[in-house]
Amino acid sequence: DVRHGPILYLEDVTVSFDGFKAINDLNLTIDDGELRCIIGPNGAGKTTMMDIITGKTRPDSGQVWFGSRHDLLSMNEPDIASLGIGRKFQKPTVFEVLTVFENLELAMAADKRILPTLTARMNGEIRDHIDEVLEIIGLKALHARPAGILSHGQKQWLEIGMLLMQRPRLLLVDEPVAGMTEQEMERTAELLTGLAGKQSVVVVEHDMGFVRSIARKVTVLHQGSVLAEGSMDQVSSDPRVIEVYLGA
Ligand code: ADP
Repeated sequence: DVRHGPILYLEDVTVSFDGFKAINDLNLTIDDGELRCIIGPNGAGKTTMMDIITGKTRPDSGQVWFGSRHDLLSMNEPDIASLGIGRKFQKPTVFEVLTVFENLELAMAADKRILPTLTARMNGEIRDHIDEVLEIIGLKALHARPAGILSHGQKQWLEIGMLLMQRPRLLLVDEPVAGMTEQEMERTAELLTGLAGKQSVVVVEHDMGFVRSIARKVTVLHQGSVLAEGSMDQVSSDPRVIEVYLGA
C-alpha cells in the first residue's frame, strides 16, 4: 500500500561543484501524504536538493527513488515531472493577461499526456477539475478576472493551483510566504496543510513562525546533509541547530 511507504527516498546523495560538496551524503525519506518543511542556513544545499529531485542537477553518487519503482537518476527532467512531481519556485509566474480560469486551463494543457484530447474534453471533466482547484486555492470568486489584478499572495495560490491541475503526487514548494502579509500567510498554511494527505508536500522556508504553524516534521539541512530531524520543538531545542541556524 503506497499510502504507508515513502514517496521519495534519497540515499547517500553527494554533488560537488568545482570540488565543493554542496550536497554531502544526504539521506532523506518523505512519506506518502506527508507535509515536510526543510530549513537551514543559506548555502545549506536546499535548492540543490530540489534540483536533484526534479532532475535539473545530477548527483555524483547516491540514489534517488520516487515510490519503490522509479529510479529518478535514470530519468530526464520532463519524465520526472510527468511522474507527478511539481515544483513551485519562489517568484510566481502566472500569465497576467489571462483570467484566473484560463491560467488553470493552460496549466492543464501543459500536461502533454492530455494535450491531444484537450479540445475534445474541454467539457465537464476538466471544468469540474478547474472548479475543484479554484475551491482549494480560494479564488472561485475571482475566476473571471485577469491574473494581473491579483495580490502577491493570490498569485502564489494561483500558481499552486496551476500545479494542482496536473494532479501531482509530490509538490516541491520554495519559500511560499516570502513577501506575504500575515493574513496571506495564514491562508497559505491552511492551503498547504489541506493539500497534505492528498499529495506529499515538501516546503523550503525561512520563516520559522510559518514553519511552526504548518510542520509536523522538520528537516534541518547544514553543509549538504541532515543536521537534525523531528518536530519543530525537537529541532528548535537542538543545540547544534541553534548554533548553526536559529541562534544567528
Ligand atoms: P540553499 O538553497 O540552502 O541556500 P544551495 O543549494 O543554493 O543552498 O547552495 C549550496 C551550496 O552550493 C552553496 O555554497 C552554493 O554556492 C553552491 N552552489 C549551488 N549551485 C552551484 C553551482 N551551479 N555552481 C557552483 N556552486 C553552486
